[in-house]
Amino acid sequence: MATLNANFLKLKAGYLFPEIARRVRTYSEAKPELAARIIRCGIGDVTEPLPTAAIRAMHAAVDELACRETFKGYGPEQGYEFLRQAIVDNQFAGLGIAADEVFISDGSKCDTGNILDIFGKGNIIAITDPVYPVYVDTNVMAGNTGDADARGAFGGLLYLPCNAANGFVADVPQAHADIIYLCFPNNPTGAVATRGQLEAWVAYARANDAIILFDAAYEAFIQDPAIPRSIFEIEGARDCAIEFRSFSKNGGFTGVRCAYVVMPKSVTASDGMGGRVPLHQLWSRRHSTKFNGASYPVQMAAAAIFSDDGKAQVAALIDHYMGNAKLLREACASAGLPVYGGVNAPYVWVGCPAGLSSWDMFDKMLSEAQVVITPGSGFGSAGEGYFRISSFNSRANVEEVCRRLPALVG
Ligand SMILES: *Cc1c(COP(=O)(O)O)cnc(C)c1O
Repeated sequence: MATLNANFLKLKAGYLFPEIARRVRTYSEAKPELAARIIRCGIGDVTEPLPTAAIRAMHAAVDELACRETFKGYGPEQGYEFLRQAIVDNQFAGLGIAADEVFISDGSKCDTGNILDIFGKGNIIAITDPVYPVYVDTNVMAGNTGDADARGAFGGLLYLPCNAANGFVADVPQAHADIIYLCFPNNPTGAVATRGQLEAWVAYARANDAIILFDAAYEAFIQDPAIPRSIFEIEGARDCAIEFRSFSKNGGFTGVRCAYVVMPKSVTASDGMGGRVPLHQLWSRRHSTKFNGASYPVQMAAAAIFSDDGKAQVAALIDHYMGNAKLLREACASAGLPVYGGVNAPYVWVGCPAGLSSWDMFDKMLSEAQVVITPGSGFGSAGEGYFRISSFNSRANVEEVCRRLPALVG
């Protein structure tokens, strides 16, 4: 008899985005005359086409594959040297990261989930609340939690509440943790951590012999030069942090798929028998056993992001989305709602009008303005009373959302 991984049965059935899709579908069927007015600001997916530099490079790479002389089969599992080196030169210059500490993959969602393969059982896992649901669910699947309580919080996790009082940047806890997930700029709150806050986290990790899993998927949206873009800008982080980056949000690669893990060789963990082993060794083994490399045209397209044209085109994309974020921030603020994020991040995090829960506000926005937002409570119980508006949209759609907002809230 085959048995299943019973940890999967602990997962909550009503995952956030299917529930949003269900409510939008129900509404569209009930009000077909209004369905065409619906504007989606819910899911965090980019809307604008790929940078021309990436498209050109991808076309050229496909042509290479079409010729016997230039054809390529399997590439290196860890990624082509040209891309790993371009990443180091363009994103980590002066931070002491070597090309063989960069592992190319087909997405940060997979990487942040797969990383648990190389950690043992019994680690105390610290997770911010609200949070990107992948961190929680992959820990549930891996058996690192107990069951969920009535509010959806899983036993065994150390939740770090993020709220208006701490500016949605988790304070370093009194309690001990072994593994800490941090995401800056943050999804869903749009918060960024200052250098001082990141220094406190690195100091905590070193004092607790813990490892920080740092998700920097939105690094390209940072506008303030004083805000660190990488955890490796912090002294000592190379001994205690692993960073996740993706081409999804800067280069618009959500459908193309390319990301990477930066795993310094100096990050070690206990083997449980008094020894220390570099995690690089384990991740390298895992990657080459379970992954056969991102596709060649995709890696060529990713490298083209770092060409002069590519950089200018990415900057224009970021400007577009950040212009949207500014409009959304202003519209929500002038409707009298408390507004966070959207300054160094594509997400605007907004307090619901008094007395409305996150899902109440979702239903109100859908039925009265035909605007789809993401209920904050879907990211964790500390997100209750907030909603997330994404700036990933066309300018015309954002302007229309801004026109509809005042009537709704005022
Ligand atoms: C979008 C996103 C990513 C990127 O995921 P990919 O699988 O690379 O597309 C990673 N982390 C967070 C928090 C995100 O929102």
